[in-house]
Amino acid sequence: MATFPTQARAVIIGGGIVGCSTAYHLAQLGWKDVVVLERHKLTSGSTFHAAGLVGQLRSSANITQMLGNSIELYDRLEKETGLATGWKRNGGLRLACNPERMEEVERQATTAHSFGLDMQILTPKEARELWPIMTVDDLVGAAFLPTDGQANPSDITQALAKGARMGGATIVENCKVTGIEVKDGRAVAVETDRGRIACEAVVNCGGQWAWEIGQMAGVNVPVQSVEHQYLVTEPIDGVPRNLPTLRDPDRLIYFKEEVGGLVMGGYEPNPIPWALDGIPEGFNFTLLDSNWDHFEQMMEQALIRVPALENAGIRTLTNGPEAFTPDGNFILGEAPECERFFVGAGFNAFGIASGGGAGKALAEWIVGGEPSMDLWPVDIRRFGGHHADREWVRDRTLELYGKHYTMAWPYEEHESARPVRTSALYPHLKEAGACFGEKMGWERPNWFAPEGMEAKDVYSYGRQNWFGPVGEEHRNTRENVSVFDQSSFAKFMVSGPGAEAALSWICSNDVSKPAGSLTYTQMLNRRGGIECDLTVARLADDRFYIVTGTGFRTHDFHWIRRNVPHGLDVTLEDITDSQCTLSLMGPKARHVLEQVTEADVSNAAFPFGAVREIDVAGARAKVLRVTYVGELGWELHFPIENAYTVYKALMAAGRRHGIGNAGYRAIESLRLEKGYRAWPSDIGPDHTPLEAGMGWAVKLKTNTPFLGRDALVAQKQAPRKKRLACFTVDDPEIVLLGRETIYRNGERVGWLTSGGWGYTVETNIGYGYVRRAGGVDLDYLKTGTYQLEVASRLVDCDIRFGALYDPKMERIKV
Ligand SMILES: Cc1cc2nc3c(=O)[nH]c(=O)nc-3n(C[C@H](O)[C@H](O)[C@H](O)COP(=O)(O)OP(=O)(O)OC[C@H]3O[C@@H](n4cnc5c(N)ncnc54)[C@H](O)[C@@H]3O)c2cc1C
Repeated sequence: MATFPTQARAVIIGGGIVGCSTAYHLAQLGWKDVVVLERHKLTSGSTFHAAGLVGQLRSSANITQMLGNSIELYDRLEKETGLATGWKRNGGLRLACNPERMEEVERQATTAHSFGLDMQILTPKEARELWPIMTVDDLVGAAFLPTDGQANPSDITQALAKGARMGGATIVENCKVTGIEVKDGRAVAVETDRGRIACEAVVNCGGQWAWEIGQMAGVNVPVQSVEHQYLVTEPIDGVPRNLPTLRDPDRLIYFKEEVGGLVMGGYEPNPIPWALDGIPEGFNFTLLDSNWDHFEQMMEQALIRVPALENAGIRTLTNGPEAFTPDGNFILGEAPECERFFVGAGFNAFGIASGGGAGKALAEWIVGGEPSMDLWPVDIRRFGGHHADREWVRDRTLELYGKHYTMAWPYEEHESARPVRTSALYPHLKEAGACFGEKMGWERPNWFAPEGMEAKDVYSYGRQNWFGPVGEEHRNTRENVSVFDQSSFAKFMVSGPGAEAALSWICSNDVSKPAGSLTYTQMLNRRGGIECDLTVARLADDRFYIVTGTGFRTHDFHWIRRNVPHGLDVTLEDITDSQCTLSLMGPKARHVLEQVTEADVSNAAFPFGAVREIDVAGARAKVLRVTYVGELGWELHFPIENAYTVYKALMAAGRRHGIGNAGYRAIESLRLEKGYRAWPSDIGPDHTPLEAGMGWAVKLKTNTPFLGRDALVAQKQAPRKKRLACFTVDDPEIVLLGRETIYRNGERVGWLTSGGWGYTVETNIGYGYVRRAGGVDLDYLKTGTYQLEVASRLVDCDIRFGALYDPKMERIKV
């Protein structure tokens, strides 16, 4: 190129499929002045050696939609650019070799139906008709998704690059980014070995180099390179060109057709991490040595499925490294550490499948300043401090790689790199039988094993081993009182003369009440969608204490910080690690609390929705009268060093009231009965409070302006396109997990966002949005007959209005 650019609107680092797709979509959105910098040649990172399978189904509707956007783009790209892409929609088969896997496949098909995809359940014989050269003796069944396909990764990337250039983008090869200039917390330029480029946005599409590139801006991108191998054969008799892709998860392997032969790869349980000391300089268009010994375990499985492989000529065994992440999802979005620094990386060996849609979503985020839809499963703000620990990232990533094809059990917890963060009560709760789960690195009691039972989950698609003990914790909370260790809650302090004004703008509920008040509120995006769901306790005129969910610490902190209006004098601090939180919940909670404090905790002195700073068992505590379980209760927040003393005092005071420990699985069941919504499942950035039936928590009746207000006002005047509803299925043999498809009068109208068992009301409970373009009102909801599709079977259900359980109502048999 003639002159090296010195200025651009966006600079994209990395000329793999994701960088090129992002440039293409930025150009489509009208950003012509975009530069892609590639340190060697386009596709020379991981892209050139991908196998090219393009699957679509994920467990999130929006990520499935994103992958669908890839397919829709690949359908037209060749025509649009004149470059061949090797794209064909030959469909994808998924096999099941045992009843548990079949149930998983059937549930996946149900999820697919929920998201509008035609995933078909097949018998082994039908599967064989689509894939004639495989053995099916061991199959229980299979599923077929006709819209899956395959592409040539390098060709499709070159086509995207051409499309980007046609839209005005500049692509510079042989140009290495060496630094990123950050000014006042904002990325303003990139330094390269050919000069500096000032820009409005920097986009890190560096694949397995993304961590290294992130470090240049002080941004953590938790990726780990892992070796991944696949074999390519010579042509095999009986392999048609339109052979669908094939995933055989019980054998940990996948196949696709290539020039009349097969590509076969897999996910071994003992993956090999690569480049632990950094990626070698000059690693371009480079493969690793074929590791036949390591691949043998895949080969053995493949020979059982496709005996013809025995005599097939082998062309190559490709061994390429790829960026994997600790939760198996890729990483997208604006980094919380640095404004206008965006990331699109860590594609876990499905970057070709995601590249088209992920580039689109990232481009929309860059141009719009926030994601255009809920992208939480891939949002970079899902990570926290421990994700900067390279060893932690490596260990967890390897576990996730090894689980790529293993059964994804409901309620499954991961085992590696634990414990990393524990509450001060961890050893005591462990001694009391806690079975811990992990969230954001925190060990949290999921349930407590009674004496004689091992504190360990035993997974299945039926009722799992913890079902009984959790029922007991649930019952004790409804009848007596329970203590929940919720120390992992994220906690922020917002203070200063501008604190009230800032929070009044960011919060959709009225938080400007007098000191001592507690407000449940949401924080909305410009579309009126729920970004944060939290409690704001006003401790003083200029001091607010915010409590939010464990997993949303980075996200919510970032959301608040970036939305504080300019010019206000506000200090925002994260004080999570200094505060222990114990929730005391149940009808006898007051009897317990009044024994460990001299403060008046009567209903008159300490009503619902109040916060008091009082002494509890010698600890200065912020005590919040609030509940997420539908019973009388308080959250006690106090310094960590008092944790054991306060816990012991509560347990001693509660002994004669039947106090017990309880965990997060009991909370889930309790809140389902009471109808409390959970973020990000029942409520989230794509759902407004009006759609979620939470208009009562929004200050629309006041004249106070707040972020998202305009969207809600507009929505109030139009028919509501969806509404959250509650469904129950009495049959205890049915297990609702969320994602089950909702049918109204035989027509698909939505899917469950959460599901579980209500022990008090003795029924399965599910929440989900009923959708209809023409509008959904109460009458429409009430006049339908409903069914749920559960693991591909239709089950009758009832739609229910109001909370299924209310402590004021007569107690139902427990
Ligand atoms: C063996 C194997 C099989 C696979 N099979 C499939 C499959 O069947 N289906 C599927 O969907 N996916 C598959 N994948 C995954 C897929 O290859 C990747 O997810 C995808 O290519 C990632 O694209 P990317 O753009 O994120 O990264 P890359 O292609 O690695 O691009 C990153 C680019 O950044 C450049 N770069 C790095 N540092 C700098 C710097 N400082 N300055 C400038 N440029 C820089 C690199 O040179 C590189 O070109 C497979 C991967 C492997 C390893």
